[in-house]
Formats: sequence, structure tokens, C-alpha cells
Amino acid sequence: MKKNVVREPNEGKIASLVRQLLVELGEDPEREGLLKTPMRVAKSLAYLTRGYRQTPRGVLNNAVFNTGANHMIVLRGIEVYSMCEHHLLPFYGTCAIGYIAKDKVLGVSKLARIVDVFARRLQIQERLTEQVAAAVCDAAKAEGVGVVFTCRHLCMMMRGVEKQNSEMTTSAMLGSFREDEKVRQEFLSFI
Ligand code: ZN
Repeated sequence: MKKNVVREPNEGKIASLVRQLLVELGEDPEREGLLKTPMRVAKSLAYLTRGYRQTPRGVLNNAVFNTGANHMIVLRGIEVYSMCEHHLLPFYGTCAIGYIAKDKVLGVSKLARIVDVFARRLQIQERLTEQVAAAVCDAAKAEGVGVVFTCRHLCMMMRGVEKQNSEMTTSAMLGSFREDEKVRQEFLSFI
């Protein structure tokens, strides 16, 4: 598989765009509190989108272990911080991942790292959910994967409809999690 390497963002260029943005918003970028803001925002945005420069294979770093096991493995309560691609505002919540390995299991912390590879990009929650499911399935050569994200979107909470308590849940079920009702129920009972 060819590596999809994306270049590092040009922080100086982003900072000058942020400075311009401040002017357009009616602010004075020369006032003391804002002097360092453009570069801070540039560095922060580079960090929040670092997933573009990562791949599941890269973060796994061979932490895939052979076992004879083929029972269900579930990790829940994985913290998620992402940015909605429509408003560039954060959405955050938790994610649960379950999979049935054929004979390979993934290091536990690696599941969380795979979530971050895709969460630290501009996203919509639905696509994030599908990408994580596909990546776990591929990495573990799993016979089935289930992924559920539950998140709050600041673009809904702070603007627009201002629904402060709404949460969105999205799920992706692959392989036996999709086809076998009992497997899916077992997963849902764990989470
Ligand atoms: Zn949004």
C-alpha cells in the first residue's frame, strides 16, 4: 500500500491568514492580547489536523499480536476530539470499538491511536465512524467490527439551532457484526 504522505502545513502562511481574519472580524491584531494569536492558532490547527500526516499502519507500528483467539474484544469510552468540516468547530465525545479477531489482536492503546488518525482531521461524524471501522477491520484482519461514536457538536450547541444537550450517535457494523444479529447484540450489550 502506498503511503499517502501529506506535507506539513505552512504555519507562517496560516498565521498571516489568521491575522487577516482578525481584521475582517473587526479586531485589531496589534493589540497586546492578540499579538501572538495568529501563530498560536496556526500551531493549534496544525496539531488538530495532524491526522492528515498519519496512517493507521504508521501508528500501529506492528503492535499486532498473533493469538488463537476468536472472541469479541471491546474497548469503550475512548475519548474523541474532532473538528466538523462544515464550520471548523469542534465535536467531541466517546467511541466504542468491538471486533472479533481471526488470529490477530491489536495492542489496546492502538485502537485509540487509530481513532485519532481519523479524528484529527476535518470530519463529519458519519465518515469518521466508517473510516475507523474499516481501519480496525483491515489492521486486525477481523471477521467483524462494530464502531459506535456518540458526540456533541459545538456547531449545533453554540450556533444555529443551539441545542445544548443533543448528542449524535453513529455506528458502523462490518462482517459478522452486520450479518449476525447475535454478534451485534453481544457488542451492544457491552457498550
Ligand atoms: Zn458543523
